[in-house]
Amino acid sequence: MNDCIFCKISKGEIPADIVYEDEKVIAFNDLQAQAPTHVLVIPKKHIASLNDIEEDDLELISYIFDRIPKLASKLGIKKSGYRVVNNCGSDGGQSVNHIHFHLLGGRSLQWPPG
Ligand code: AMP
Repeated sequence: MNDCIFCKISKGEIPADIVYEDEKVIAFNDLQAQAPTHVLVIPKKHIASLNDIEEDDLELISYIFDRIPKLASKLGIKKSGYRVVNNCGSDGGQSVNHIHFHLLGGRSLQWPPG
């Protein structure tokens, strides 16, 4: 998607504080961190939201979830614990229409979310 900010980050067209990248996935620090560690993990492929995952994307989504604990380990939060959040749609609080998984940690997180 030409006007998608996360597609632009994944293509290197706009800067981000990248903490991990491979051919399928990129992870970068959230601009408005809500925890000491707050990283967004996204597929480079444009998928608008959780609602838009298709059969062909399932391997990619599995791949992301395989990467997340490894990334948590690299970021030093695997043992202490962390939260993975996907906001979907307007009531879910999704503000960027490119699927992304928030990886939050580095402090004790509250529950339930607001
Ligand atoms: P959501 O509200 O779940 O759609 O999350 C979108 C997240 O993207 C928010 O936490 C924003 O702070 C974050 N964000 C938006 N633009 C950027 C950017 N250019 N670099 C890093 N994080 C961003």
